[in-house]
Amino acid sequence: MNIEQFYPLFLQSDKVTIDSRKVGRNDIFFAFSGENFNAATLAEKAADNGALAVIVEEQEFENKDRNIFYVPSTLEFLQQLAVYHRNQLKIPVIGLTGSNGKTTTKEIIHAVLSEKFNVQYTSGNLNNHIGVPLTILSIKPEHEMAVVEMGANHQKEIELLCTISQPDFGYITNFGKAHLEGFGGFEGVIKGKSELYDYLKSHHQTIVVNENDPVQTEKTENYTPKITFGKDTSDYQFGLFSEEHFVGLEYHGIKAVSKLTGEYNFTNLCAAASLGLYFGIGFEKIKHAVEHYTPTNMRSQVVKKENTTLVLDTYNANPSSMTASLHNFVTFEGSKTVIIGDMLELGEESEKEHQNILKLARELAFDQIITVGKYFKAVNPSSLSFENTAELIEYLRQNKIHSENILLKGSRGIALEKSIEFI
Ligand code: ATP
Ligand code: MG
Repeated sequence: MNIEQFYPLFLQSDKVTIDSRKVGRNDIFFAFSGENFNAATLAEKAADNGALAVIVEEQEFENKDRNIFYVPSTLEFLQQLAVYHRNQLKIPVIGLTGSNGKTTTKEIIHAVLSEKFNVQYTSGNLNNHIGVPLTILSIKPEHEMAVVEMGANHQKEIELLCTISQPDFGYITNFGKAHLEGFGGFEGVIKGKSELYDYLKSHHQTIVVNENDPVQTEKTENYTPKITFGKDTSDYQFGLFSEEHFVGLEYHGIKAVSKLTGEYNFTNLCAAASLGLYFGIGFEKIKHAVEHYTPTNMRSQVVKKENTTLVLDTYNANPSSMTASLHNFVTFEGSKTVIIGDMLELGEESEKEHQNILKLARELAFDQIITVGKYFKAVNPSSLSFENTAELIEYLRQNKIHSENILLKGSRGIALEKSIEFI
């Protein structure tokens, strides 16, 4: 089956999915094997349920009239179909990568650009070699723009994702200490994320640059086209302020207060606002978008529980975002407890990075420091050091935390959010 022959069927379909529970009659289903199920069984079921087309690698089916298409590699077929579709699109695609803040920035950019355009964007965190093609394939004729999140934990991944998404605009949220293991240290992170710049440069596309970030500035020096913010000499200049822990940005005397906490969100907001202004959206409308965007996804979320302010940042953690989070939290007024979970996937640097964070938390003099996870446990002899979230919950059942503010932050694998109801 070649892509060109298959493409008309794709155009007829409602959507492309890899989730067998979500296949509708007018959908295309790509069957991937998972831990608990095999692709052939899923394909068979989807075909029985009348999917428009089913793509699968196995060759065992007899009944060929059920719109089952056999391909050598489901993944490659998915990626190639996405590339083919991308090549037909005449709309600007904005590509995002970076160590932290991709999803948040993607959502704010979407909110801002939606003030004027019909914008498609990455759903949730679908940012990998499967998610990016699915995002591209979700772009319909009515869409006027797209925002695509691209994630990576090793070299050459962003390069591949760029050949699929072919961004016309690109932004790297930050270079941070995340996925150090896969990238080969911090230099490796810079190299890996910069694959977005390599793509944009070789295709003469526009780079969005935070000129407060020395790495971004250096990597894009003398390059055009670019859209810049962060410095007095940048294209767009925003003032930072905060109102009751919420970050705001000011532009020519107009103030927009977000529902996000953490100063690091200021750059995320600036990137979105810069793109908005660039695409001709007035700041009044940008303000509207910024003020109405509500994070619901455990990323920099502030929740009031009785007399306690909870900062929920349990979606993920690495040394950069942990540092930023602690510095933000220390500015809260009143007594403060931090519950910090392990930062996973740090490889050789792990012990040192956990030590550093613990040291920082002590220096910032929080009223109480609770750690969760075996990496912290190895460096934290305190009785408030728990092996896992279950142990933390056991403790919380017996002991109430008397703090006006509590921060919860840790890697996804630690699942600190499970403890919220016991606080
Ligand atoms: P993932 O790799 O899981 O896709 P992501 O890059 O999409 O992560 P978000 O989910 O948007 O990142 O944010 C995760 C956390 O990173 C936030 O809750 C916050 O603690 C931190 N963070 C967000 N933006 C920044 C930033 N610009 N710089 C540093 N840390 C940030
Ligand atoms: Mg994300």
